[in-house]
Amino acid sequence: MAAACTSRARNMAPDQALQELMQGNGRFVGAAPVRVDSPAARAIEGQAPFAAILGCSDARVPVELIFNQGFNDLFVVRVAGNIIGPNELASLQYAALHLRVPLIMVLGHTFCGAITAALVPKEERTKEPAAIQRLLQQIDPALAQMDASAPLAERVASAVAANAQRIVVQLKTESALRRLVRDKRLLIAGAVYDLHSGRVALLPEQDQWCH
Ligand SMILES: [Zn+2]
Repeated sequence: MAAACTSRARNMAPDQALQELMQGNGRFVGAAPVRVDSPAARAIEGQAPFAAILGCSDARVPVELIFNQGFNDLFVVRVAGNIIGPNELASLQYAALHLRVPLIMVLGHTFCGAITAALVPKEERTKEPAAIQRLLQQIDPALAQMDASAPLAERVASAVAANAQRIVVQLKTESALRRLVRDKRLLIAGAVYDLHSGRVALLPEQDQWCH
């Protein structure tokens, strides 16, 4: 994690970075040719991503592919349920502070297995290894407002969005990132990838939770 990496930052504005990402997803779902990197792009010595993505480990959500991006474009952190523990936070802090990415996106996805597992009755969870139980506990706070009487599919969809939005708020209020957000040098956005359509939809901001 050498500080020397900072000199390679792309100086892209947060809005531009978000636009580039969403346009890439448009290329992915559309008929436009998928971009291919030259060998030279792969040989770049320093990192210069224009966005950091906190995504789920789910094999159906390969981050670079769904945004139609190539080598050195995205700094990707993937963990089941796109949760934020100390290691994920440290990785995103590194991307923002040292690589100076102007955008962090928290990317949930439809039919997330980790979110679905967090919604099953608590007694079922005790059959899982301790580490899995701990991971699911990190999703629990996002489920607090759930309507328990709603059908499971509906609850999963709401929980996917609530989990991503909650993490966005957590990141925005985190001391190392808060100043960058306030100075409009860093945008932190939540989004959901739809497994069926391939589209990424931005989630509404939940600024009211920031105070
Ligand atoms: Zn998932």
